[in-house]
Amino acid sequence: MSQYDVDLFVIGAGSGGVRAARTAAGKGVRVAIAEDRYLGGTCVNVGCVPKKLYSYAAHFQDAFEDSQGFGWHFDSAPRFEWSRLRDNKKAEISRLNGIYEKLLTNSGVELIQGRAEIVDEHTVAINGRHVSTEKILIATGGTPWMPEFEGREHVLSSDQIFDLPAFPRRFLVMGGGYIAVEFASIFNGLGAQTHLAYRGPLFLRGFDNELRDFIRDEMMKKGVNLHFESTITRVEKRDEVYDVELSNGETLEVDAILGATGRRPRFEGLGLENVDVEREFDGKLKIDDRYQTSVSSILALGDIIEGPELTPVALEEAMRLVELHYGSGSADPIDYDSVATAVFCHPNMGTVGLTEEQARERHDSIRVYTTNFKPMRHTLSGSDERCLMKLVVDDNTDRVLGAHMVGEEAGELIQGLAIAVRARLTKRDFDATIGVHPTSAEEFVTLRSVTRT
Ligand code: NDP
Repeated sequence: MSQYDVDLFVIGAGSGGVRAARTAAGKGVRVAIAEDRYLGGTCVNVGCVPKKLYSYAAHFQDAFEDSQGFGWHFDSAPRFEWSRLRDNKKAEISRLNGIYEKLLTNSGVELIQGRAEIVDEHTVAINGRHVSTEKILIATGGTPWMPEFEGREHVLSSDQIFDLPAFPRRFLVMGGGYIAVEFASIFNGLGAQTHLAYRGPLFLRGFDNELRDFIRDEMMKKGVNLHFESTITRVEKRDEVYDVELSNGETLEVDAILGATGRRPRFEGLGLENVDVEREFDGKLKIDDRYQTSVSSILALGDIIEGPELTPVALEEAMRLVELHYGSGSADPIDYDSVATAVFCHPNMGTVGLTEEQARERHDSIRVYTTNFKPMRHTLSGSDERCLMKLVVDDNTDRVLGAHMVGEEAGELIQGLAIAVRARLTKRDFDATIGVHPTSAEEFVTLRSVTRT
């Protein structure tokens, strides 16, 4: 009989926490999980899921326009109703919250609604009750972060943007990462006059430079107003309107402002001060290769440890953690270099492996293959949207180091390529693969001319 109330106490029922809790429970571990907000965490409630639903909604604008070249006519212009989208989204998220609850309870996990505080390395306090536990898993995820400036209280975070009471006719987003470009594309597609202000010369820092240039051009073609080398210095509210001053001297009048300048671990009220866990330079928790913090009974995963802040990464970490602590005791390390990712700007970006810049740094000699073309759909649609595809190859081994795309459904397409890149396949393997015709994707197996070395 264990000396503890439970074997594993998970704090945070987001993607990683829920997966770890129910997988561990499936192995006979006695698990409790605490959540003080919504089940499913950022991804389900204020992240990936609602964002993708809104992105679908925004893509219809292009689809309506494109359809006319294919013979479709509308008696009146399509009209967008924000409240219907928002409320349908809410209903879908509630459905998913319910599924998460069922997944947990059906797997035998004790779900506790409330804010958990770590009291010591084997005790958690919640709702006035002390629960003793052999291990604690911190899976609290992140929370939006914004720099200081005058009027910052008028700027919404990504937690608040989904449920706006009214659709903003004029919209500004500050930032140049995933959230900023995705929401600029979404609000632009839904019909808002859209501005994006980013502090550097070009957004999406860290992604392949050629793709960043291409996305800038495509987003501008779609009508997004890009203000580079500029940040918000001041916001003033005037009735329902916001007057914004940018650092480059420009002024804007908008109806809603989103700050998308990164996220920080959500540690407030967690009681970390009661245990001596070591931090990384950026405040995230330091862990070893078993997800153990410097206090061996306290584990951590997801956005609060180093690594990409992505749902599938947290899920994989959860599976590995459970295997390491409650399964065979060993698990292959995650190959972070071949984690594919998509940015759902319009058009979408899908990317896996090394960028051209990273490949040049790490390899003596590379070959780069690119193609930039008008997709077949746009031969009749009249749209000037283009598609970019790119392979980065190690010249010595012929291995494909990176595959990148900006274009329709790039996120869907890159998943298959991620298998090839992770399996260390060569350009010769790509060339020997017969294309699927007529698709855009077949370009990835028909790239024969080297663009540059
Ligand atoms: P990111 O870290 O991706 O981007 C933050 C942006 O804010 C960067 O452009 C950064 O500029 C800028 N910034 C940072 N500090 C300041 C400052 N003081 N003043 C002005 N600008 C600043 O964060 P996001 O908030 O966009 O997203 C958080 C994370 O969530 C992402 O990194 C990603 O891991 C995840 N996510 C994934 C999605 C997906 O998979 N499709 C979608 C949305 C989010 P600089 O580059 O110059 O530092």
